[in-house]
Amino acid sequence: MREFDWIRKAAALFGREHDGAPVGIGDDCAWLRFPGSILASIDTVVEGVHLDRRVLSPRDMGWRALATALSDLAACGADPAQPIQALISLQLPAELPDVELLELAEGLGECAQAHGCRVVGGDTVATPGPLAITVTVLGCTERPALRRGAAPGDLVVVTGSLGSAGVGLAALRAGDTGADAAACALAYRRPRALLADGWTLARQVSAMIDISDGLLQDLGHLCAAGDVGATIDLERLPIAAATVATARRLQLDALEHAAGFGDDYQLLACVHPDRLATLRRHIEPLTVIGEIIVGAGVTARRHGMVVQPRRRGYEHGGETGQAERNNS
Ligand code: ADP
Ligand code: MG
Repeated sequence: MREFDWIRKAAALFGREHDGAPVGIGDDCAWLRFPGSILASIDTVVEGVHLDRRVLSPRDMGWRALATALSDLAACGADPAQPIQALISLQLPAELPDVELLELAEGLGECAQAHGCRVVGGDTVATPGPLAITVTVLGCTERPALRRGAAPGDLVVVTGSLGSAGVGLAALRAGDTGADAAACALAYRRPRALLADGWTLARQVSAMIDISDGLLQDLGHLCAAGDVGATIDLERLPIAAATVATARRLQLDALEHAAGFGDDYQLLACVHPDRLATLRRHIEPLTVIGEIIVGAGVTARRHGMVVQPRRRGYEHGGETGQAERNNS
């Protein structure tokens, strides 16, 4: 029966035994060893909702499912030197060809290797419904960075660049094959969980979140959790040249994607101004895009003028943001 066959093949791709897991795949439970407090998170992606088969290969789907789950560990500052482990529940449609099933395992395995993560178990079932992948991730830290904790006067900083994944998805859908478009598409197809940056940031920042649903929306979560407000200067958002060029060709607004489209999985943090220089010695680029203030909610400005961006982020079942990205 193909579920067992899949587990056997996948197990070989999922990483070797190590100290953190004396028993991994193959028994009724994994037997795990952690040095102290653990971080745990679970995420599900469903074909037709989060996964679009027209733009993602099975290998991409496997990678994305695991990377996006690992991003939550990065957002809390899991220690990359300690065990990072995952459990994967797969719901497999009967019509999914065996070769694609194997590619899915390869995508999961490649992503696990790239992040120093070990897949220690899971569950595999056949379903009459769409492909769904649920990933539980476990990591360690004694001092997590949380959504709450931002203080008025803190700077709002972001890693890397924004908007690439959103523009990349548009490029994939438009069949744009230029080199700059391919770079954006890769950001969408193969996001990276920023575990090393998250660990470094967690020890210096007052609050942190990963940008999965859109900068403005995710910053809104930080503000609500910390009972503070924020102002953002949109012209400061870091946007890669390839993203600007691709957006221009597709007649898209790169800034709008940077502000309101998630999927880049960059880290957004609040930091006391005195700590910025130290952080910048370790994380490059780290861009200051705004400030935490007394109040509530996120105010976006463009060259000093308050603006109302069209997209704020993705919300399930909501009318806001790029809900169309999954339905078009
Ligand atoms: P059980 O019937 O005890 O739940 P399973 O047949 O479901 O056992 O799983 C056998 C082994 O394979 C277990 O160790 C389980 O953790 C692992 N496993 C099953 N599905 C997956 C998966 N999708 N990813 C990783 N490990 C899996
Ligand atoms: Mg089972």
